[in-house]
Parts: sequence; C-alpha cells; structure tokens
Amino acid sequence: MAASKGRTVLYFEYFPPKTEEGVENLFERMDRMVAHGPNFCDITWGAGGSTADVTLDIANRMQNMVCVETMMHLTCTNMPVEKIDNALDTIKSNGIQNVLALRGDPPHGQDKFVQVAGGFSCALDLVEHIKAKYGDYFGITVAGYPEAHPEVILGEEGATEEAYSKDLAYLKRKVDAGADVIVTQLFYDTDIFLKFVNDCRQIGITCPIVPGIMPINNYKGFVRMTGFCKTKIPAEITAALDPIKDNEEAVKAYGIHLGTEMCKKILASGIKTLHLYTLNMEKTALAILMNLGLIEESKLSRTLPWRPPTNVFRV
Ligand code: FAD
Repeated sequence: MAASKGRTVLYFEYFPPKTEEGVENLFERMDRMVAHGPNFCDITWGAGGSTADVTLDIANRMQNMVCVETMMHLTCTNMPVEKIDNALDTIKSNGIQNVLALRGDPPHGQDKFVQVAGGFSCALDLVEHIKAKYGDYFGITVAGYPEAHPEVILGEEGATEEAYSKDLAYLKRKVDAGADVIVTQLFYDTDIFLKFVNDCRQIGITCPIVPGIMPINNYKGFVRMTGFCKTKIPAEITAALDPIKDNEEAVKAYGIHLGTEMCKKILASGIKTLHLYTLNMEKTALAILMNLGLIEESKLSRTLPWRPPTNVFRV
C-alpha cells in the first residue's frame, strides 16, 4: 500500500446524469472536487447497462480531460462477452486502467439475475475473464458486503451466519481470481464494517478493503437507498433523523456530522482509504473531508503537480 502511507487514499464516485446538461453540470462539479486531489474518481455503469455509452464517454473525459485516475464500473447484466470486451477495449484505448467488476442487479422488472446468452453469471466470471484476456493491464476492484449481499438478507435480523460466511468465501474467490481491491456496499453501523474487515482477514483476504461511505444528503434518498440495500440503521441514527426529517438543511448537517464521525472511527482503526458515494453532490462529501482535515493535505499534493500511480495499492 505504498501511496497510502501517511496519506488517506480517496475515491469520489459519480453516476451518469440523464441529460447532456446534467453531464456538463457534473463536469463543472467534478472539476471543483478534483481540485481537492482524490486518488481516484469512479463512474457507475447504469443498471442493466442502460448508460453504457454515456458511462464510457464520461470515463474517457474524466481520465483525459479532468485528468484524474478513473475507475469505470462494469456489470454483466445484459452484456454478452463481445459487449464486455468492447467496453474494456474502449477504456484501454483511452488509457483507463481501473475497473470495478460487478455482476449487476437483475434487469428492471425481474427479481432474479439471469445470465444473458454468451455472458457471465457473476462478478467472479468477469474478474476471471478480465485477467485471462487483459493480464495485469487493469487494476481490478470488486464489491464487498459488510452485511452480506441483499439477496441473502432475510429481514430485520439480517443474513444468517451461514449465508454471511458463504458470501465471504465467495468474496475471497473474487480476490483469489485477481481482484486487487474491495470497495464495500454502504453501511451506517461502523462496527459492522470493522467486523467485516476482521472476518475477511480471518479467512485470508489480504487486499485493501475500502469503506463505501454514503453521506446523507436528504431523508427520502437515505430511506430509499437503505431500503434497497437492506442496510441496518442503528437506533441512534433513526432517533436523530426522525424529528428533523422534514428539514432539509438539518438533515444535511446531520449527514455531515454522522459521516465525519463514521470516517473518524474508521481512520482511527488504521484503515486509510475512503470511497465516497457522492451521488453527484459536492457539499456534504467535501464538508466531511474538511472536518477530517483531509482536504488541505490533498490540495497541497496537487500543486506538485501530482498524478497518482495507476494502482496505488500495488506494492
Ligand atoms: P457478485 O459478486 O457476483 O455476487 C452476487 C451475489 O451472488 C452474492 O450474494 C454472492 O455471494 C452470490 N454469488 C455469486 N456467485 C456465487 C457463487 N459462484 N457461489 C456462491 N455465491 C455466489 N450496480 C450497477 O448496476 N452499476 C454499478 O455501477 C454498481 N456499482 C456498485 C458499486 C459498489 C461498490 C457496490 C457494492 C455495488 C454496486 N452495484 C452496481 C450493485 C451491484 O451490481 C449489485 O449489488 C449486484 O446485485 C451484485 O453485484 P456483485 O458484483 O456484488 O455480484
């Protein structure tokens, strides 16, 4: 973990906006945010491959015009191998060397993920394919689930120990197949994340595990995302949000406070990486980093000028 020594490795995640105007707005915001020196910015792959062209275009601009080390998400949903290779060849020709390899969710209107003809059934297949076809060209990241994947979470009680262990064992297979880094699903109980890291270490997963932090920007979005991902919400968070849920500014301020406290605890545990699900918004994410004292440091390193190595995690 050479580049993380003494410096926190930061990721900013964005999603592709629906309109051209939205894309231009995103780049203005991204320019301002990148001035704070994140190591990586990542762009999501729309559910079911719905944004493939926009994602590829944004990824290219991020890498070559914004000049930030870019990680593109790629899923297997509705993607025969020719389409997967087309996407990988495109980003390779644009100098992008980082991929977040995902299975993806089932297409809209379907409950279960179904492998498309000539495609892959899970992220493990995709990791294996990338390694076999592109060797070490790409730095590969995969998703990890501190509370287990939502498909195996039963209800309030979460996943059974057995399902959680199975999920972890499968995660290890993704790493053994060539993934360099794990980025986690969002969580709001920091102890669950820290336990997950420990459990991963216990079964021999040694790669960096990057916490996925989703700052709370508004109440409705928070409820929607935590419901979709079946995320546990600690009682104190519910108690704090309930009385202020109709006050947008108060929710945002709480989101900044909570995000800061969560990150403080994570950084204090010795983990020096943060992946911020920005939801294309800058204020809460930057306020958290400012509270943590991480932004000034990053700005300094950018004046060098500083360009991060392709995969800061490779020794
Ligand atoms: P997998 O790693 O394949 O796992 C899915 C589930 O199947 C797990 O429960 C796993 O244990 C089980 N499983 C699969 N194969 C096996 C096996 N052989 N043996 C045992 N168990 C198995 N979605 C998007 O559409 N676009 C994005 O850009 C996007 N970005 C994301 C970024 C992050 C950091 C995360 C955490 C998620 C993201 N997602 C995205 C959501 C993701 O696509 C879904 O969570 C999807 O349902 C699972 O993808 P995966 O790569 O984790 O799947």
